[in-house]
Amino acid sequence: MQKHWPPFNFSAGPAMLPKKVMQIAQQEFLDWHGTGLSVMDFSHRGKEFASIAEKAETDLRELMSIPDNYKVLFSAGGASLQFAMVPLNFLRTQAVYVNTGIWGKKAIGEASKFGNVSVVEALQSDDGLLSIVPEKQWAFSDTFDYFHLTTNETIGGVEFLNFPKHGKGRWIADMSSNILSKIINIEDFALIYAGAQKNIGPAGLSIIIVRDDWLQKELPPTVPSLMQYKVLAENDSMYNTPPTYSWYLAGLVFDWIKRQGGVEEMERRADERSTILYEYIDNSEFYRNPVKPHCRSRMNIPFILQDESLNEMFLAEAEQFGLVNLKGHRSVGGMRASLYNAMPIEGVEALVEFMKDFEKRA
Ligand SMILES: *Cc1c(COP(=O)(O)O)cnc(C)c1O
Repeated sequence: MQKHWPPFNFSAGPAMLPKKVMQIAQQEFLDWHGTGLSVMDFSHRGKEFASIAEKAETDLRELMSIPDNYKVLFSAGGASLQFAMVPLNFLRTQAVYVNTGIWGKKAIGEASKFGNVSVVEALQSDDGLLSIVPEKQWAFSDTFDYFHLTTNETIGGVEFLNFPKHGKGRWIADMSSNILSKIINIEDFALIYAGAQKNIGPAGLSIIIVRDDWLQKELPPTVPSLMQYKVLAENDSMYNTPPTYSWYLAGLVFDWIKRQGGVEEMERRADERSTILYEYIDNSEFYRNPVKPHCRSRMNIPFILQDESLNEMFLAEAEQFGLVNLKGHRSVGGMRASLYNAMPIEGVEALVEFMKDFEKRA
């Protein structure tokens, strides 16, 4: 077996960025486009940063085919701030939250502070296998302001490979861990949000895509300015100083995705990477994935060693070989391999090679 890899970083977030993006950032670090200044030095209101911000938005719009009647916002505060901003801005009578895991639960906890939440408990477990409850069994109130989904549960490794039928047009989705990995129809959503640190860029930035008409809604006078989507939109995401450097890096990632062949190519790669790992796990007696195939995440793949006493050895050896951050979330245990857009196919091939070798020696 090969003894050492580059290393490959399987962290769930902050996650690896494409190497090419890092190299461009490095080249431009001290002198952006002949200005003699770093992007970090630019005023967010100056013409240099304006061009960076505009290109990032244009590229994202092109990548995701975002229609003109949607605003794209770049904001600080992470996805967790969106858990509060969404209900603050849009929860009036009642909202439906479809719960498929830990992040969904957090979103529900936050929304419940602001109003009525009708929860669809849509994660079930039978024989130790997790799956999404079929939509026809979901029970929820028919009156709702919006319909909240977590499109990929980063910790449990559960993804909506097909979206529900209910609530279309009024979906609000947390896409933190699978945005830009799958072609979607933006018009099915009222709002999409994603923390950047999984599939977009470094931590400190969130992307929000919101339909115009939802920005016209009357708000209670107590909502802080910075937490009003309307205020962010009216000020081109510069009501206050935005996380400029993270925004710039996100722009480099969007440009990289375009050059790779767009979201269609990201989706193809995500299918390819995850299939390699799932097929190996499924054909092994030594490892096990705890999710039913129809809702297995293409981004975050938890796996368990049948003999859990080998966990520490597995992780230590993997790290020695350059396969890092494979430890599972503390609530799930075992291992988790996060295979975001930036993970090259060689990374997952190396992981499978290591897993085979470990199995042989164990
Ligand atoms: C990581 C993650 C979050 C939390 O993001 P922060 O930026 O840390 O607030 C929320 N939802 C999902 C699906 C995530 O993967």
